[in-house]
Amino acid sequence: MKIVRYRIGRKTSYGILKDNRIERLASTPYRGIKGTGKFDKLTDARLLAPCLPSKVIAIGLNYYKHAQEVKQEVPKEPLTFFKPSTSVIGPEDKIVRPPGCQQLDYEAELGVVIGKTATRVSKADAMQYVLGYTCFNDVTARDWQRIDKQWTRAKGSDTFSPIGPWIETQLDPGNVLVESYLNGVRKQSSSTNDLVFDVPTLIAFITNSITLLPGDVIATGTPAGIAPMQTGDVIEIKCGGIGTLKNTIA
Ligand code: MG
Repeated sequence: MKIVRYRIGRKTSYGILKDNRIERLASTPYRGIKGTGKFDKLTDARLLAPCLPSKVIAIGLNYYKHAQEVKQEVPKEPLTFFKPSTSVIGPEDKIVRPPGCQQLDYEAELGVVIGKTATRVSKADAMQYVLGYTCFNDVTARDWQRIDKQWTRAKGSDTFSPIGPWIETQLDPGNVLVESYLNGVRKQSSSTNDLVFDVPTLIAFITNSITLLPGDVIATGTPAGIAPMQTGDVIEIKCGGIGTLKNTIA
C-alpha cells in the first residue's frame, strides 16, 4: 500500500494511492489506516513529504563500500546524527544551497517511517513499529562536514531532508535497491543487503536511548558514489519497490 500526503487547493490530506486515484484517509495513518471511500485524482494533487517527522535520525557510514570511499572505518556501533524537522521537504520541492556552502552532495538512502511510539524496543519486536518505507536524500554540505566537529549545519540546513514520494507499507527492507540519478545519469546503486547495521538493529539501537514518535524517519545510510550537485541539477533517489523522489537544485 502506498500512503501519500497531499494538497488540493488549501486542503491537506493523507490518502492511499491506487493507480491514478487517491482514497482519502479519515485521519493520519498512525491510528489505523481507514479509508473514507472518497477519492481524489492524482493529477489534481500536489504530493507533499509523506510524513512530518519530529526528527530524522540518520546513520553515517552504514555501507561497507561507502566507508571505503570516504576512507573511514566502519563503526562498531551505528553512527547517528539528527536532521531537524525544519530540513524536511517533499517531492519536486527545491533543494537550496545555503550561502557560503561550496559543496552540496546528494546521498541516496532508504528511509524507515515509524508508525507508533517506540521506546526501548527489542530487535525482535522492532518491525512492529514500522509504518513503511520511503526514499530519502541525506543532502550534505560536504565542505562544512569536513570543517565542523558536529554536523548540525552540514546535515541539518533547511531543505536538506527531501522525503517521498510516498510511504510503501509492504516491503522487505533487507534487499532494496537504492539508487541515485543526477540529471538522468546513475551515480549510486546498491542493495540494502550491504548495510552494516540492518533496520531492526537500528531501531533497537536508537530506541535504547531516544524515543521515536509516529512519523519519525530513520535514514539508513548511503552507498558509495556520492558527488556534488550544481544549481539547476535534477537529483532522483530511487528505491526498488517504492518509487522515485525527484528534486531540483535552486
Ligand atoms: Mg547519509
